[in-house]
Amino acid sequence: MLKEFGVTKVFQGSLKKVDDLIPELTAILKEAKISAGAITGIGAVTGAELGYFNGQTKSYEKIQVQESLEIVSLKGNISIKDDGVFPHLHAVLSKKDFSVVGGHFFAGIVYAFEFEMLVLAGKPFTRKFDEATGLFLWKE
Ligand code: ZN
Repeated sequence: MLKEFGVTKVFQGSLKKVDDLIPELTAILKEAKISAGAITGIGAVTGAELGYFNGQTKSYEKIQVQESLEIVSLKGNISIKDDGVFPHLHAVLSKKDFSVVGGHFFAGIVYAFEFEMLVLAGKPFTRKFDEATGLFLWKE
């Protein structure tokens, strides 16, 4: 599946300390009427919830990491799910001892976060449930 888009804008932005990263980012997307795009970001969070999708059980195994973490790399895409804009984010986070954890980014409280967003023009991808994988994947 391949779709062609035009790149309309590139935004840079930041979130502030104690922001709940995903709801704040989603609010920015709604306000700016962005429903197709790509995002990358760096910064730090004071805790995070990450997921690993287990293909055997077709469900997410989640971990809560309750400590200050460096956002080594956060990236994702922006499309439509359940009639609303949905940022799908993954992150690699580093701990005080420099070990890293990573996975699907479910939640995180911002300590500092700076991002770049590529805004695409064209009909955004829409996520629908996929029987074969158990995931909500781009279907149209
Ligand atoms: Zn994911």
